[in-house]
Amino acid sequence: DPSVCAPLPVLGQDVTVPLVTGGEVVYAALDYAASAPALQRVWDDVAAYAPYYGSVHRGAGYLSQLSTDLFENSRRTVAEFLGCRAEDQVVFTRSTTDSLNLLAAALPADCQVFVYETEHHASLLPWRDARVTYLDAPRTPAQAVETLERALADRDPYGPALVCVTGASNVTGELWPVKELAAAAHAHGARIVLDAAQLAPHHPVDIAELDVDWVAFSGHKLYAPFGSGVLAGRADWLREAEPYLAGGGASRKVSRRADGGVDVDWHTTAARHEAGSPNVIGVYSIASACKALTEAGFDNLVAREQELVSRVREGLAEVPEVQVLSLFGDDAPRVGVISFVVRGWNSSHFAAALSAEYGIGVRDGLFCAHPLVRTLLGSDPQDPGECGAPEAEPGERSLNAIRVSFGAGTPDEHIDRFLRAVS
Ligand code: PMP
Repeated sequence: DPSVCAPLPVLGQDVTVPLVTGGEVVYAALDYAASAPALQRVWDDVAAYAPYYGSVHRGAGYLSQLSTDLFENSRRTVAEFLGCRAEDQVVFTRSTTDSLNLLAAALPADCQVFVYETEHHASLLPWRDARVTYLDAPRTPAQAVETLERALADRDPYGPALVCVTGASNVTGELWPVKELAAAAHAHGARIVLDAAQLAPHHPVDIAELDVDWVAFSGHKLYAPFGSGVLAGRADWLREAEPYLAGGGASRKVSRRADGGVDVDWHTTAARHEAGSPNVIGVYSIASACKALTEAGFDNLVAREQELVSRVREGLAEVPEVQVLSLFGDDAPRVGVISFVVRGWNSSHFAAALSAEYGIGVRDGLFCAHPLVRTLLGSDPQDPGECGAPEAEPGERSLNAIRVSFGAGTPDEHIDRFLRAVS
């Protein structure tokens, strides 16, 4: 029932774009998986605060104190949004990519890392300096758990280990069995980090309920602009690691040594990894988005989005040339992220035509998940070809795909126009 919940007001719904066929149309942003539009509510909150910002954690003045309160309250809001445990830390970063690189830099010595080849590059690549095992693409959620269990059973049982997994794929939108994977990791003494970049905007993420050790996500996919992200979870590895950035704010005490060097006593809180003046507005906008989504109610948001997912899938199924990409099969639960190829079409040309002729913004390419997309397209996952390489001729095998993605702000009309355009 599409009336379950109206779309949430978001920015950028009034942009008109010229069409090559003549006239203008209101732009339909169907690329939420890359960056979602900001919620109007986030923009209003930021606009109310923006004239009053001051430096954080340092000044005695009123605006400094106001900003420090907003910054630290935002940390609490995010912790609540993620259902953090008492001992968890919320570290503010620039993005999911930054969060996972921070965790990679904080791995204990000799840590073994297990990651599926199907991950987004942000989850796939940061571990390359560790002892990393890349797991083959599973074709069912149950196979994902089996693959992990098999790999963990063979690992050095005494050393530390980390599993990194994405909650919802940025290519297929499919949900991964996070709870089961967390149980498998813990049963083998490993820890697990959840890349929630695509999950958090569409689903409640409860760190304690899922029993994952860390969660990473980005503000700009969660309806909050301004380069900020989150790494939330266990404090111990983070507390013991070298600061991610060395500088002011991360250090509690700095003194000259008799031999002329410098001694540093680093913070053991989240501040340890947040050196430098933080992105207060970015952090505040994440907290505002967390509140807005919670108040709208994920049950409502999920119900509406699932209605749109069904419409898109049914609409695409009516076009014989369209092949929707899926790892886990048609019945797999998924979020509003759907990739496909169109027989006889170069995906980049198809996406360009959607833009030029219909004013619809989608993404084309390999979506920073090259091995996964190559597997889904039936090409060689080890092929080092370029991201977004154009298809040679109509009728040949696609080398890249088209992705449509949507969410809490998407009006029905955008979906209708998209389906009309594709058919
Ligand atoms: N993980 C997933 C699943 C993603 O979709 C993305 C962004 N496309 C990232 C990580 C990286 O996010 P960011 O670019 O905000 O660091």
